[in-house]
Amino acid sequence: MAIREIKTYGSPVLRAKAQPIENVNQEVWNLAQDMKETMRLAKGVGLAANQVGVLWRIITFTNPEEQKDQVLINPQIVHLSEEREKDEEGCLSFPDIYDQVERAKKVVVKGWDLEGKEITIEGEGLLARILQHEIDHLDGILFVDRLSPARRLLIRNKLKRISVAEE
Ligand code: ZN
Repeated sequence: MAIREIKTYGSPVLRAKAQPIENVNQEVWNLAQDMKETMRLAKGVGLAANQVGVLWRIITFTNPEEQKDQVLINPQIVHLSEEREKDEEGCLSFPDIYDQVERAKKVVVKGWDLEGKEITIEGEGLLARILQHEIDHLDGILFVDRLSPARRLLIRNKLKRISVAEE
C-alpha cells in the first residue's frame, strides 16, 4: 500500500469526469487500498479517485454508522430524498475551507464492492452527505459549487489563496 498525493483546488483532474470501471482487477484493488490509507492519514471521511489523480469511478468513505472504511466502485445515486438539510462540509482538496452546504438528507446509492458484487447503501445525515460529496467529485463537481452565490463570494479570496492553478 502507498500514500498518494491529494490534488488540491485548481488541479484540472478535479474538474474532469471519471470513467466507469469495467472489471475489478489488481490495479483497482491497489488503488482502493491506497485511497483508504491516504484518506485515513489525511483524517478525511471520504475520498474520490479524482483527488489522487485517477479518473476512475471509485470512492472510499468512512461509514459513520458502522465505523468502518468502505469502497464503492461505479457508485450511482438511485434515490435522493426531497427533504434537504444544511451542514458544515469540508474537502481534502480544499485545505482549511469549510462551509454550509445544503444536500438531500437521505440517499440510496448502488455500486460494486471490491469483489465486483453489486451493493446498495442507504444513508442518512452524515453518510448521505459524504456519499453525495464523493459522487459529485467523480463528475468534476466540487462542494464549493454547491454553495449559494453569496457564500461563494465570501470565500473567494480563500479559494484564490489555495488554488494551485488559474481556473
Ligand atoms: Zn471532496
